[in-house]
Amino acid sequence: MTSPETSPVLALLLDVDGPVASPVTRDVQPGIIADLLALAAAGVPVIFNTGRSDTFIREQVMEPMIAAGMPAGTVIHAICEKGAVWFSYTAEGPGTVHVDRELAIPQAFGDDVRRLVAEDYSAHMFYDETKRAMVSVEQHIAVANPDYRAEQELFDADAMNLMARHGLGVVRLDHHVPDSDDQIDFRVDPTIISTDIESVRLGKDLGASRAVEFLAAQGITPQAWRTVGDSRTDYAMADWLHHNDHAVKHVDVRPADGIPVKPYEVLTAADLGLGEDVIHDDAGAAFLRHWLAVVTG
Ligand SMILES: [Mg+2]
Repeated sequence: MTSPETSPVLALLLDVDGPVASPVTRDVQPGIIADLLALAAAGVPVIFNTGRSDTFIREQVMEPMIAAGMPAGTVIHAICEKGAVWFSYTAEGPGTVHVDRELAIPQAFGDDVRRLVAEDYSAHMFYDETKRAMVSVEQHIAVANPDYRAEQELFDADAMNLMARHGLGVVRLDHHVPDSDDQIDFRVDPTIISTDIESVRLGKDLGASRAVEFLAAQGITPQAWRTVGDSRTDYAMADWLHHNDHAVKHVDVRPADGIPVKPYEVLTAADLGLGEDVIHDDAGAAFLRHWLAVVTG
């Protein structure tokens, strides 16, 4: 059990798609599962902060961790759908799934996106039925990524037109379409394997604030955080932590987009002496192994 008022040397706040789950196969390497368990057993809080659904986390992360032998008393927190949904799990399985309904996309719009995908885009992508607050449309594994990315541009434009028809103000990257009250409430966020449509209040920063809250409720104040991601939007975790006076370093496992200038340290696989070809979950795995060596001496 976690004793009251603990102060672990490290806490991990992890994006899942990319650093933990392979963006190609969508599943998690057994070595990553083993190292996550070893880190948790060594007292390092492990918290997932993902755009994925709670179902994805249960199937791809929680179930393999439990099957591999999760120590009794270990609690893992999972913040899903960019902060709109969260749950915790132990060796006994998942606790209650919480949904912040105020952050959910209107149902009628979601229904129209489902229809749009079925009618025009089903060869390249599918509607994620497991999402509770966001609308996500994801690349089929069998489709080549460049083919998907080209089709995704068309889908995103159609989705934005659909939002205008529903009177929803929306922003995609630099493209702003306010509603009739000049209000932007939603965003279209294209990732390398999906498009997420979500409240502008969702984000990895919201997830970071929830992560700090969950640990505080357990009496845990980490001495330092490590955040890990593969997208620009993942830096929002470290931005939020730094801004709120927590010691943090961010790991970028897909630095091909360039490393932005930040007031905290940004690490890549090169900092572990690895080549530029070590990216995605291979880079994630290398950092987990590194931190495990640090905390277990
Ligand atoms: Mg990711």
